[in-house]
Amino acid sequence: MLDRPFDPETRIVSRKDQPPVLERSCDICVVGSGASGASAAIEAARAGNSVILVDGLPSLGGQAVNSIIGMFCGLFTPGPEGTQLTHGIADDIIHDLGATGDAHIIAGGVMKTVMYNEVALGRWVENAILKAGVQPLTGAIIRAVNMEGRRVASLDIATRHGDVRITANGFIDASGDAAITWQAGLDCRVQKTGQIYGSQMLIIEDFDDSKKPDWDTMAARIAEKGEKYGMMRRDGFAATFPGRNVAMVNMTHIETPLDPFDAAAKQIDGKEQADRTLVFLQNEFPEAFGTAKIRAYGLPGIRQTRWIVGTHHLTTEEVRGAKKFDDAIARCSWPLEQHHNQEGYVWEVFGPDHVHTVPLGSLTVAGADNLVAVGRCIDADSTALSSVRVMGPCIAMGAAAAHALTLAGSGSVHQIDMAALKNRLRDNLEG
Ligand SMILES: Cc1cc2nc3c(=O)[nH]c(=O)nc-3n(C[C@H](O)[C@H](O)[C@H](O)COP(=O)(O)OP(=O)(O)OC[C@H]3O[C@@H](n4cnc5c(N)ncnc54)[C@H](O)[C@@H]3O)c2cc1C
Repeated sequence: MLDRPFDPETRIVSRKDQPPVLERSCDICVVGSGASGASAAIEAARAGNSVILVDGLPSLGGQAVNSIIGMFCGLFTPGPEGTQLTHGIADDIIHDLGATGDAHIIAGGVMKTVMYNEVALGRWVENAILKAGVQPLTGAIIRAVNMEGRRVASLDIATRHGDVRITANGFIDASGDAAITWQAGLDCRVQKTGQIYGSQMLIIEDFDDSKKPDWDTMAARIAEKGEKYGMMRRDGFAATFPGRNVAMVNMTHIETPLDPFDAAAKQIDGKEQADRTLVFLQNEFPEAFGTAKIRAYGLPGIRQTRWIVGTHHLTTEEVRGAKKFDDAIARCSWPLEQHHNQEGYVWEVFGPDHVHTVPLGSLTVAGADNLVAVGRCIDADSTALSSVRVMGPCIAMGAAAAHALTLAGSGSVHQIDMAALKNRLRDNLEG
């Protein structure tokens, strides 16, 4: 077959008329395929809904994959013996990636985490989406949200291959930036003063792990010498992936503005900071990092930009007080982790039995009946959000949104049977 003749002739095509908008409909449309959106789409499909999952990037997985976050936080209660708070796709990921050595539960520190290989997670998300029967639409940016009264009726979406309109019964805003809510003209929140910094993550290779300093030594050296290397952030860590000679480095702070030109400029600035970080590591710890190279830069890691106004504004005091809401849909013990200083972050760890909860009211968009937000754009103050936006609770929120919209059907998500929802989510609320 290799010598099959190939016809080199071409044909001419040109666009004469405005091409028609491609129209699709489904039960639930999810925008954003990160930890929260992937969970929402898979759980919604498993619950019997037809689902379309839209993402502006050409591939799925959101920041978990494309920004190389590298570690699932917030899945366990505090301490090395922490018990698992969130299940659903978290169980599947731990099981499937664990079996191939692409996920490891790390139980040594203050909080138990799951370190993962982002390449394997990316393929896991794609396979899991297809297996669940979810229709993906990637490289697709929302241009307009069409409302009918208090319901989102459809989304107008631009792709490089033409315009698409998606009509659905329910919508999940897993965009991180509250993109559906904002485009619908509904109220959103932004930081009143100051800003929450993101980070440019990177993967380094070709270093000697046996000579690598511990995290405290590294952090102390950055604090002492970081300025000399032009490092904006004066703390951070390099975490080696078990069994592979690569490490995930989190040592930068980048601005993540909403202005499109500023955002483009800052993503290049992030890489410059990352390059300075490598020079720091090479010079300050030459035995370990003298020959280290950057293997991959993640896409800009964005912690917080714009988020929804829900029917409940989760507060720092509710998180510190371990409030158990009547409409709780997710649990979390992750510390408050504020990145509002250029130089570093503020970390407030909770006691061993501390578990706070996320209420459904922080997910339900106040001005709409069929729109639920999940992940890093739910309604909370910035400090409360710094805990509940980690990926463990993101996965739990995704499941909650999927089931809340399933129960709402053509009615309002503000008036669902809460006992029925909690029963569907019991694995994430009990035990
Ligand atoms: C640098 C950094 C380090 C972190 N470290 C950790 C950690 O170690 N462990 C942990 O658990 N958490 C960590 N976090 C927090 C956590 O990673 C994020 O809060 C979480 O990944 C957010 O997931 P999400 O599903 O809400 O959104 P995202 O993962 O941000 O996904 C949003 C998706 O929506 C898409 N989108 C946005 N707008 C549009 C639009 N208009 N049209 C179409 N698509 C759109 C985007 O392309 C993106 O794929 C970290 C965050 C950062 C930034």
